[in-house]
Amino acid sequence: MDNNKCGCESKNNEYYAESEENKLDALKENAECLCDEKSSENEKESPENSGCGCDESPAETDDSGCGCGDVEYPDQSQVNNPENAEFLASEDFIKEFESYTKSLGISSIGYTQITSDLLIKDKFIPYPHTIVLTMPMSEDIIATAPGEEAQELNNAAYAKLGEISYKISDYLRKNGYNTQVAHPYEGMVNFSPLAQKAGLGWIGKSGLLMTPELGPRLKISAIFVSIANLPVKSENKYSWISDYCNRCSNCVKACPEKALLEKETCCGNNETELVQKLCIGCSQGCTYCIEDCPFHTKGYEHVKIKFDKMSAKLRSKNKNKCV
Ligand code: SF4
Ligand code: SF4
Repeated sequence: MDNNKCGCESKNNEYYAESEENKLDALKENAECLCDEKSSENEKESPENSGCGCDESPAETDDSGCGCGDVEYPDQSQVNNPENAEFLASEDFIKEFESYTKSLGISSIGYTQITSDLLIKDKFIPYPHTIVLTMPMSEDIIATAPGEEAQELNNAAYAKLGEISYKISDYLRKNGYNTQVAHPYEGMVNFSPLAQKAGLGWIGKSGLLMTPELGPRLKISAIFVSIANLPVKSENKYSWISDYCNRCSNCVKACPEKALLEKETCCGNNETELVQKLCIGCSQGCTYCIEDCPFHTKGYEHVKIKFDKMSAKLRSKNKNKCV
C-alpha cells in the first residue's frame, strides 16, 4: 500500500526513444536515473487519465501518514556488481534462475519494464528491466489481530523477502549481471501496480494484488537488472478480477478503520479510495481486508469458476431479453 509520488527530474527519456537495434548501446551509455514526471506517453496509457477519471484500481490519497515505506533498509548484497555487465540471458539461464528463486521460497516471478509513474522515491535506477518477485505471508499474520505481535510478524515477512531478494540479486551478479534490489518495505516502488504490469495478478478493491497462487496473501519485491531480453509477457489474463470486485465489497466492509472508501464515479460505477493515513496495515499488521477476501477464503480457482458461471448466466439473461 505504497502511496508517495515521485516528482524528480528525468535524465533518461532518451532511453525510451532508442530504436531496438540501439537498445544495448543505449543500456550501456544511459545508466541514468529513471525517476521522472509522468511522460506524455504514460499519461495517455494510464487508466487514471482516461478522461472521465474512473479507475479500476483503488485511488490512494496523498497523505501517507501510515508510515509504510518510511524505512531505508541497508544493502545486504554479498557480491559486488560485475565491472563489465552482461546484457543478454539464454532461455536455459532463465529456467535455472527461476528454479533457484523457487528453491528460496518465491511463489511467482514476473518480468516487466519499470516506468517513472511506478517509482515513489527519487532514487538512481540503473536499468528499467525489472524482475518482480512474490512471497507468501504466513497464515500466522492473518490469524493475529492488529497490534504489536501482528506488526512484528508483518515486519519479519518484509525482512525475509528482503533477504531472499538480496540472495537472488547476488546469484544474478555471480552470473555476470548488474542488479539493484527494491526492498519490499522501502517504498521505492509502487509494488502492486508493478506486479500487475508484470502479469502476476490484478489489483483488487483493497489495493492489494490478487494472484492465482496466493490470492492477496503475499509480499512483493523487485530487482532491476541489466538483462535486456527478459521474457516480458505483454498480456495480463487477470483483468476480470476488477469486475468480480465490483460485485464484492468484503474488504471495504471488513476494514475496521474505514480506510477503504467507496464512491460513485461520473460514469455511475463505483471507485474505491484507500486512505493511507487511516490504514493500519504497516503500523499494526492489520490484515482484515485479506482475511475476508474470497481470493483468500475460497481460493482463486473457486472464485474464477463462480465468476465464469455468473457471467454466463448474465449473458444468457441479456440475450433472452433481446429476443
Ligand atoms: S483492513 Fe486493515 S490493512 Fe486493510 S485497508 Fe483496512 S486498515 Fe488497512
Ligand atoms: S474482498 Fe472482494 S472486493 Fe475486496 S479485493 Fe477481495 S474480491 Fe475484491
